[in-house]
Amino acid sequence: MDLYQDLWDKTLVVLEKTYSDEIFQDIFYPSREVVKFANGSIYVLVPNLYVKAKINKIYISKINEILKKLTKETLKFKFIVSEDIEDIQPSPTVEADERLAENNLNEHYNFESFVVGESNMFAYRFAMNVADQPGMIANPLYIFGGVGLGKTHLMQAIGNYILDKDIQSKILYVQANEFIVDYSKATQSGNMANFEKKYNNLDILLVDDIQMLDIGKKSQQEFFKLFNDMYSKKKQIVITSDRPAADLEGIMDRLTSRFSCGMTVDIKLPTLSQRINILKRKAIETTTKPLPEDVLEFIAQNYTDNIRELEGALNRVIYYGEIYDVDINLEKTKEALEPLLKARKNNKNSSNNYDNVLSVVANFYNISVADIISNSRNSKFVLPRHICMYILKSKYELPYKQIGMILGGRDHTTVMAGNNKISDEITTNNELKLAIDSILKKVD
Ligand code: ADP
Ligand code: MG
Repeated sequence: MDLYQDLWDKTLVVLEKTYSDEIFQDIFYPSREVVKFANGSIYVLVPNLYVKAKINKIYISKINEILKKLTKETLKFKFIVSEDIEDIQPSPTVEADERLAENNLNEHYNFESFVVGESNMFAYRFAMNVADQPGMIANPLYIFGGVGLGKTHLMQAIGNYILDKDIQSKILYVQANEFIVDYSKATQSGNMANFEKKYNNLDILLVDDIQMLDIGKKSQQEFFKLFNDMYSKKKQIVITSDRPAADLEGIMDRLTSRFSCGMTVDIKLPTLSQRINILKRKAIETTTKPLPEDVLEFIAQNYTDNIRELEGALNRVIYYGEIYDVDINLEKTKEALEPLLKARKNNKNSSNNYDNVLSVVANFYNISVADIISNSRNSKFVLPRHICMYILKSKYELPYKQIGMILGGRDHTTVMAGNNKISDEITTNNELKLAIDSILKKVD
């Protein structure tokens, strides 16, 4: 805890220099104590709800910006009043920290950042109700819809909302394929302790992309046990899927029939005006320069069926403007998106679905095709990029040069290296192998 207190102390020093005396005395001076650390969040105790709201409204981004400069780890500050921690022992125990350490929630996926429109209104409202009264309204809540339409976002918003209200709740977000990996690791090693620690005694279980459970028969039985255990204790389960429960193939009936006994909601394709709203919202979060209306419209018109791709395109345009140091207009937008749009056009015209590999891999890793062909070396994008190289080589036997072209004009030696890396690693890394198996099933 000392380390976190130290980070807050240092942040306070900067805040004191940044803001007027009045603000500092009012807001920050009474907020000096770190009371908890969980899930990458450092919880600072503030004196009352007014201060909490002020900080969250006005100062939070500055605060986390300062924190970013102080540490290499991805940490953030959260602010709570004493009522929030009433139930916790006066000094936070190690156990309490561990209880939350593994929930995997991405704090950006919350209700506030979810743009609501006709395609997702019903799902959104229901998710809110479930978050308000977990275990009481609909169990399980089953959310289905096409890729990139906001299922994971909405599901995690439920988790984040509950966590905000009660930082003690034990929430776990897990992708169905991760469940398979965890279970097979546990059974192979004969040591169930870690598995049980992770999955037992949960208050809220969020299982993403349940359709992927089809590749693990034994895992399905284990999941059935977990499901029933939670259900009988009235603990909330939320499930997402790319299709209705009745259409899940390769998953045992007794499990899929359980999925339909709560409430099923779906998310449909967003309308043009919804897509423009989403772009406006994301643009504000990403850049200070306003983007012209016709630019937003152009992007929204070209990306109709996947919000992740819509966002990816917007980011590419903004990034393009930054590296070439130009103001974005329609012409620059078209230039920036050309490689992506061209790839899609080829994709529609050709029987060889090479570009489809990129979208399947992007979907699997919850990133966009623009991320895959970008130059970013962020590890979140590098592995999926290498997997594309590997699949295009091993499955379609394309020349390295052509693969390089498909991936946004990369050198053939880069492609060769990426391909080799995956083919080596797949022999020892079971998790990677399972991931690639799942991807290959969708590419066919
Ligand atoms: P899915 O799980 O259905 O494939 P995600 O939840 O991962 O889709 O959403 C893809 C991306 O689109 C995420 O970055 C998410 O934040 C964003 N997104 C989806 N729906 C919305 C929405 N209604 N408002 C704002 N962002 C959204
Ligand atoms: Mg998802």
